[in-house]
Amino acid sequence: MERHLTHRKLTPGKLIIASHNSGKVKEINELVRHFGIEALSAGEMGLAVPVEDEKTFMGNAKIKALAAARACGVAALADDSGLEVAALDGRPGVHTADWAETPDGRDFYLAMDRVRAELEASGSPDRTARFVCCLCLAWPDGHVETFLGTVEGSLSFPPRGAMGFGFDPVFVPDGYSETFAELDPETKQGISHRADAFAKLVRACLE
Ligand code: IMP
Repeated sequence: MERHLTHRKLTPGKLIIASHNSGKVKEINELVRHFGIEALSAGEMGLAVPVEDEKTFMGNAKIKALAAARACGVAALADDSGLEVAALDGRPGVHTADWAETPDGRDFYLAMDRVRAELEASGSPDRTARFVCCLCLAWPDGHVETFLGTVEGSLSFPPRGAMGFGFDPVFVPDGYSETFAELDPETKQGISHRADAFAKLVRACLE
């Protein structure tokens, strides 16, 4: 039986970007600015960082989006994303950001080196990986819309490139020889997991 899903539309106006990650906020701002949306980040709104204790990207995205929408009284968009490495059985996955935690803040070069070391220890020659992004749009009344995006690729060490953020310097998307940190931001925005999820959000909630 065919299912007809109706999605709630996002009307032009204020939208909270429910993230404290400046790399994500920058990319999401670029994506939403064409739609008459005034994006304000969780940092600008002085929002606390909620505890992300779900086991899926979708669960954590919902926690962040709902917390921000309820606190601000307007719609909020959250992104929960991460890197899934095939030879590591999908790790670091939802724990991607945690692999970078140090007592002095996040260090993604340390996290990339841990991935390299675990791959070497695994003995597998498989360097296949994907980025996954779940975008959650939430309204203050508790309604949510979620969208999943992916980009397939492989890992390449040592890290290369200075653009992007997080694990971009070791991720080579399929069909390219450069890492995400070497590609110009427009190219990354055209093919990334975030852009894939965002295209689905646009079709459902903005068109
Ligand atoms: P979280 O969604 O805040 O738990 O963190 C996701 C983590 O995944 C980020 O801190 C980055 O390390 C990584 N990540 C997500 N998207 C990207 C991307 O587009 N490029 C590089 N790393 C990413």
